[in-house]
Parts: sequence; C-alpha cells; structure tokens
Amino acid sequence: MDTLKKNNWTREEIREIHDLPMMDLLYRAASVHREYHDPNTVQVSTLLSIKTGGCPEDCSYCPQAARYHTDVDSHKLMSLDKVEFMAAQAKANGSSRLCMGAAWRNVKDGPEFDEVLEMVRTINKMEMEVCCTLGMITENQAKRLAEAGLYAYNHNLDSSEEYYKEVISTRSYQDRLDTIANVRKTNVTVCSGGIIGMGEKIDDRIGMLVALTSLNPHPESVPINALVAVEGTPLEDEKPVEIWELIRMVATTRIVMPETQVRLSAGRTNMTPEGQALCFLAGANSIFSGDKLLTTPNPAKSEDMKMFEALGLIPQKPFVKKAQPETVEAADSQVPALGEKPKWTRPNLHKSTS
Ligand code: SF4
Repeated sequence: MDTLKKNNWTREEIREIHDLPMMDLLYRAASVHREYHDPNTVQVSTLLSIKTGGCPEDCSYCPQAARYHTDVDSHKLMSLDKVEFMAAQAKANGSSRLCMGAAWRNVKDGPEFDEVLEMVRTINKMEMEVCCTLGMITENQAKRLAEAGLYAYNHNLDSSEEYYKEVISTRSYQDRLDTIANVRKTNVTVCSGGIIGMGEKIDDRIGMLVALTSLNPHPESVPINALVAVEGTPLEDEKPVEIWELIRMVATTRIVMPETQVRLSAGRTNMTPEGQALCFLAGANSIFSGDKLLTTPNPAKSEDMKMFEALGLIPQKPFVKKAQPETVEAADSQVPALGEKPKWTRPNLHKSTS
C-alpha cells in the first residue's frame, strides 16, 4: 500500500503499527525508509536560540517560560552579525540547515521581525536551509518570511489534542493548526512534530501522529523529541524516555509519513550511539548538532562525527530532497516586496537521493 499521501490514518491503524513486535516494526520502517530516502545519509542541522527566555507562555516542558524558575538567562534578540557568524560556523561544521528559535508567544510586526527577516535573507544567501520557530504567525507574516527566503517554519503540535491541554494552557491546539495553515499558504515547508515523555499515554503519541498525518500534504519535516526534564519546570520529575519507546515512535512516524524528514531532536544526550543507530535504521534522517539545543544539553559535535564515521553515515547537503510545494506565490501578499523573492533553485535540487 502506498502510504505516501494517506491523510486518513485512524488511531487503530497507527497503534497496530506502533505495537508490532520490535523486529517486525524495524524491518517495516527500514524498508519504507530505503524506498524513499538514502539510508546512509543523515542531515545535520543546527538550532540557534536568537532570543532566549522570558516567554509569556506556560509550556510545562520549557525552561524559557518566564513563570518557571530555571537557570535560563533571558537574552534580547541576537544581532545579525552574531547570527551570521554562528551560521558560518554551523556550516563549516557540516550543518546544512539552521533553525532560528525565538521565545515569543507570537510574532509582532515591527523592528524585531524586520531584523529576523534580514537574518533569513542573510542565511539563505549562504546556501543553507533556513528554518524559523518564532511562535504563532499570521498569513501575512508567513508570506513575508517566504519572501525573505525561508525554507521551513517549525511549529510543533507537541502531543495529541487531548493531552495538549495538560501541558499548555496559554494557547490551544487549534492555534497551532492555524499557524501551520498560514505557513501552508506560502511555499515555506512545514516542520511539526512533538515530544514524548511528558506523562502522556501511548494513545496520545498516536493521536499526535493522526493529527500530523491528517495535514495535507504531510509536514516535510517531523521532529521527534524525548523530554529533557529541566529543574524548575512542572515536568522536572518526569522519568527519561526508554530508548525502545523512542525507536517505536521514530519507526511509526517513518511508516505513516514515508517522505517526511524525521528528525531526532531533544533527548539525544541520554542515548548511546547504538540506540541512535537503531533510530537511523528505523527512519530518522536528521540530527541536531552542537552542545546545546536552544537551552538544553546535546551531544558534542566530535561525538556525533565519531558516530557518523563508525556507521558510515554521510551528512546530507541542503535542498537535495525535493522542490518546495507549489502554493500561493508570495507576490500575492499585501505587504510591500521585501528584497528578493524566494529562490529555491540549488544544485541537485531535483536529484533524488533515493
Ligand atoms: S516552548 Fe516556546 S512558546 Fe512555549 S514557553 Fe518555551 S519558548 Fe515559550
């Protein structure tokens, strides 16, 4: 069965896949992975916090929420020069994608957003995939980001709709879906995934996958995070996720969204290289590099490179997957033209890696 465009997965169908005996699950996921992706290529991405802490939201897992007492210091928006320097360093270290995160509830039009647009233009010219995670955005803001050359916008669903309320009260699941819909009206790709280990049931993990697969088209990118329980947050006492749970989640995500880039995200510090290798076999094809993931610890680059060497993995070049989806052209936006139009043509753009 071609699951490529299947948007009507039921909870029962996905649960059945998730609960397969591990060897059957791994075999099936690895088979799908080989059909749609190069199993020996993994994208290295860098996550850069461009505005840290002081967030008005109450996400129970997040040390950047102003209301929790954590060790995270607040910083105002990073300068363009610093962002450019960090991006160059990330690229030199093998990253082909830079994701800039700002601890905002939503984007406000004004000088700070203009500055972020300038960052997007700058990194786009460096021939890296540029991604942003800035909170909720309007359709117009999405179009302005598209015009600046944004490749992807990250906005996670985090969990099932039912469990979302247990974790966050300052915005709704529908708010999340609305922002994703705004991004979809542009040619910016969608990155949306979630976190396991927040005290949710397996059914909530399945519910999140149902919600993600019902998006048409599927998100081009799905990060799967394992909670990093940070002291001072409401989830500080949650137990670490078992590696087998993470492998099951990665494998199930790969099977139900075959074309999607599945990203192994937060929580890698607790994983052995062997555990990560099983995640790659199960269909993960991206890691985040650098010793910090926004504000939580991440394996050092040298450890990652040792693992890549041992496994014979090759870091993926930017823009080799496929063309951007054709949606509303940014020229339709009501905002004045801001610099260059998105230019997605890159060497190898149409060359499939599979
Ligand atoms: S996850 Fe994002 S929106 Fe939620 S508290 Fe942290 S920075 Fe704010």
